[in-house]
Order: sequence, then C-alpha cells, then structure tokens
Amino acid sequence: MRVAIAGAGLAGLSCAKYLIDAGHTPIVLESRDVLGGLVAAWKDEDGDWYETGLHAFFGAYPNMLQLMAELGIEDRLQWKQHTLIFNQPDKPGVLSRFDVPDIPAPFNVIVSILRNNDMLTWEQKVRFAIGLTPAIVRGQKYVEEMDKYSMDEWLRRQGIDEKVSTDVFIAASKALTFINPDEVSSTILLTALNRFLQERYGSKIAFLDGSPTERLCQPIVDYITAGGGEVHLKKPLKEIQLHEDGTVKGFLMRGLDGAADEVITADAYVSAMSVDVMKVLTPSSWKTMAFFQKLDGLEGVPVINLHLWFDRKLTDIDQLLFSRSELLSVYADMSVTCKEYADPDRSMLELVLAPAKDWIDKSDDEIIAATMKDLERLFPQHFGTDNPAKLRKFKVVKTPRSVYTATPGRQAYRPDQVTPVPNFFLSGSYTMQRYLGSMEGAVLSGKLTAQALVNSQWLSDLSHSTNDSASTRHQPQPMAKI
Ligand SMILES: Cc1cc2nc3c(=O)[nH]c(=O)nc-3n(C[C@H](O)[C@H](O)[C@H](O)COP(=O)(O)OP(=O)(O)OC[C@H]3O[C@@H](n4cnc5c(N)ncnc54)[C@H](O)[C@@H]3O)c2cc1C
Repeated sequence: MRVAIAGAGLAGLSCAKYLIDAGHTPIVLESRDVLGGLVAAWKDEDGDWYETGLHAFFGAYPNMLQLMAELGIEDRLQWKQHTLIFNQPDKPGVLSRFDVPDIPAPFNVIVSILRNNDMLTWEQKVRFAIGLTPAIVRGQKYVEEMDKYSMDEWLRRQGIDEKVSTDVFIAASKALTFINPDEVSSTILLTALNRFLQERYGSKIAFLDGSPTERLCQPIVDYITAGGGEVHLKKPLKEIQLHEDGTVKGFLMRGLDGAADEVITADAYVSAMSVDVMKVLTPSSWKTMAFFQKLDGLEGVPVINLHLWFDRKLTDIDQLLFSRSELLSVYADMSVTCKEYADPDRSMLELVLAPAKDWIDKSDDEIIAATMKDLERLFPQHFGTDNPAKLRKFKVVKTPRSVYTATPGRQAYRPDQVTPVPNFFLSGSYTMQRYLGSMEGAVLSGKLTAQALVNSQWLSDLSHSTNDSASTRHQPQPMAKI
C-alpha cells in the first residue's frame, strides 16, 4: 500500500516508520526545508545549533524510547540525575530540589515530596495527597472527567490553597503546555502526575546528545528510505483533492521556486500537519461532518524559544531547571547538558518563554532585554553586578502556533486518527492519545495512525483488488506493541 503523508514532524515520521515495518510504502511530504516540525533545529553562521524548542525526554515516554531502541540510537539520550530542580522566586539564585530516590514507584516520588520543605508546608503536602487520592484510585477515567476544570479550579475543589498553584503548578503548567495554571485543564497535570506516580523512572529526564533534526529525525528518515519509502522536503500540501464520493483522489502539492504544482496519488493519505494547518486545508465538503467541525475547538498555543550565548560559564548544573518566573518556563545550560553543544568555558542558555501571547509580536531586542532582567534573579552572581556576564549573541525562535492549547474542555475536541473518510487519516500530537501535546504523543499518534491504516478494512479490500507491487518489496513485521 502506498501512503502519502503530509508533514515530517515526529508524528509523520513515526507513522512512516511503522508503515515500513508493516510492509507498506510511505511517501512523506514536508513543506519546509527542514525535518522535525516543532523539534526542528538550524545552524547559525558560526555553526552553533538553535532550536524550535528546548526538549526534555522523560522516562515515562515508552513509545519514544522504543522507537529509538528500534533505530539503534537509544544511547543518544543523555540521562540526568533523577531530580527536579526549581528556582525560588523569593530567594534569587537559590534552588530547591526534589531528589527522587531509587526505590519503587510511587514511594520514590512520595519520598521526594516529603523531603522537600522549601516549596510545600506539611499541611499542603497532606491536603495535596488527599486531593490526589481519586486520581490514583480511579485512574485515567477520573483524570479525563476533570478536563472541565482548570488546574486552579481543581485545586480549590480539593481544598488545596492557591500557594501550591503559584509555587508548584505554575512551573509544571508552563513547562507542559506553555500556559498558566488558571488557564490549563487539570487533566494535563493530573495525567503527568499519574505517570510519574506509576513509573519508577517516569520523571527521570534525558536530553538528546545533539540537535533533534540530525540526531533523531534523520535516523528515522534513513530507516524509511532504506525500507523503500520516500521523504521529500520543500513539498507543501496545497489542496486535498477529492473524488465525487468524498474520498481523497490526490494531494495537490505546491510547486516551489518556479516549479509547477503536482498531484501525488496513493492508496491512502495522512495529514501529519498541525491542527491549525489541517483546519485551513479541510475540503469544504468535509466541513459539514461533525468530525472535522470539532477541529475548530483546537488551536496552537504561542511559545518562544531563546538561546543566549555568554562569555563565561554561568553554572555547572547538568539538568533542566524550572524558573518559576512570570516570563520564563524551563531552561538549561546546553553547554553542560548536551554533548554536541558542549563548551567548557562559556554557557549557552536555552530558555522557553511562556505564556508568550503578550510577547510573540514584540521585537527580539525587547524579548532579550526582559530575559536579561530575569537572569538577575536566576544567576545573581553573574548579572546586576560590577562585572556582569557578557551576552555574546542570541537567537529568538518564535512559534505563534505550537502544540494545541490545553484549556479545559479540549479533550472532547481532540480527534481520533481514523476519520469518516475511509482513505484519509490524521496524525499529530493533538490527535487523541494519552500523552498530550508532547514528543511522546507525536510518536504514539504516528504509530496509532499506522496501525489504523494497516487494520483498515476498506484499504485491505482495495489492496486485494489491485496489484500493489510495493507491498511485496518488504518483509512485513508484526506491528510494534503500544
Ligand atoms: C518550545 C517547545 C518546547 C517543547 N518542549 C517539549 C519537551 O520538552 N518535551 C516534549 O515531549 N515535547 C515538547 N514540545 C512539544 C513537541 O515538540 C511536539 O508535541 C511534537 O514535536 C509535535 O509533533 P507533531 O509531528 O505532532 O507536529 P509538528 O511538529 O507540528 O509537525 C507538523 C509538520 O507538518 C508540516 N507542515 C505544515 N504544513 C504543511 C503543509 N501544507 N504541507 C506539508 N507539511 C506541512 C510542518 O512543517 C511540520 O514539520 C515542545 C514544543 C515546543 C514548541
């Protein structure tokens, strides 16, 4: 079966990889000249990498870890000490740690919370533990039901005071969704907490040893092409062309650099584009279907990724840090955390600015000036002093619409990978899967889409009635377990 996939983010690439494993022929068509979508990275004029986002991998990412193991690249993950580190807003430069001991879950996380007295009082810990009980006892069903409440509303209903939200959940909310706890669905944070409480190494963090484009996406592409599939850059989908019965006839691709438009045909078609693009490209005759109307309930959230290169070393902490500042979310000194970005003498801070809705239209200079002000609190020993660290250069990467905005009620709008159009499927971290808008969610969605394609009765009937030479090219493997 030949499958045309629009979008070479992690979802599109994962879908293609698992289609190869099942003996099919994916053709991946990416609009930009770079792989990876939201994990895309570029080299600047000095050969230094800069990225769409600072990306942390978690132990609770089974599908990502399995994919990397299948590609033989699992050693590219640099696992860090099992600890979560937070800045303290009232104590500039002072850090608070949740060190997770190497004992079975959930005791490891519970011990780490009990041992931390900087961020939660004993009364808050007890109330929080009681509040979490239904999530632990009733599991994901309860967690899904809580999608109607924001994190702040959920905490109030559990009798947990607001300080827990401003102290702890602001960090988790901004890191996971790029919005604040008064806006984020409680389902998001409860899902993450549940994973961390159930898996011994669930909250353990790893960084990739280089740029995601070269070190993660390229090996997937090599696997796809070695298996007879194709991956093309600079191939934007312009229109989804339909047969009279509403099924897809072809993908009309926009010709770039003076080239003519061309139609790509296949047995099945996948959109692995972001939900915002999919909404624009939905054919008008599909817009009457409830399934596609639901997409209007989803929208990408703005976020900004910053890279600041300094003339000296600011820290030797080899870990992701949660800033707990109003402006910034997580950050890391990539000259320490990432092998390919290593520099023994000078720091490169990568920082996520979120929520970014009030900043996305501001100039790079304004954004950097505000960030430098914040660094006085994060690194008081290096900024606001007589001899401050000097900023050598910076890069600002703005993404006006990134992962879906995870406000209350969004779960009901997240579509399945299977659509009412029998030869058209969706993939992407916004589609329904249990890992939210993350790299793990993207990889899982791609796998689910491949599985749905393989199991499609309509397509199976079609392939029996045609002589699909491509399907004889590879030895089909059983679909990887999800
Ligand atoms: C700043 C930032 C930090 C993040 N941090 C983390 C983290 O620490 N951990 C984590 O797990 N996740 C993180 N994420 C989320 C993660 O990057 C995403 O969930 C994931 O990469 C989404 O993959 P996707 O394939 O679903 O979508 P996308 O990456 O959006 O892929 C969609 C692809 O479709 C292409 N496309 C669009 N239009 C067309 C068209 N017309 N024709 C053809 N192709 C088209 C796009 O160019 C893109 O390549 C972060 C994201 C950002 C932005």
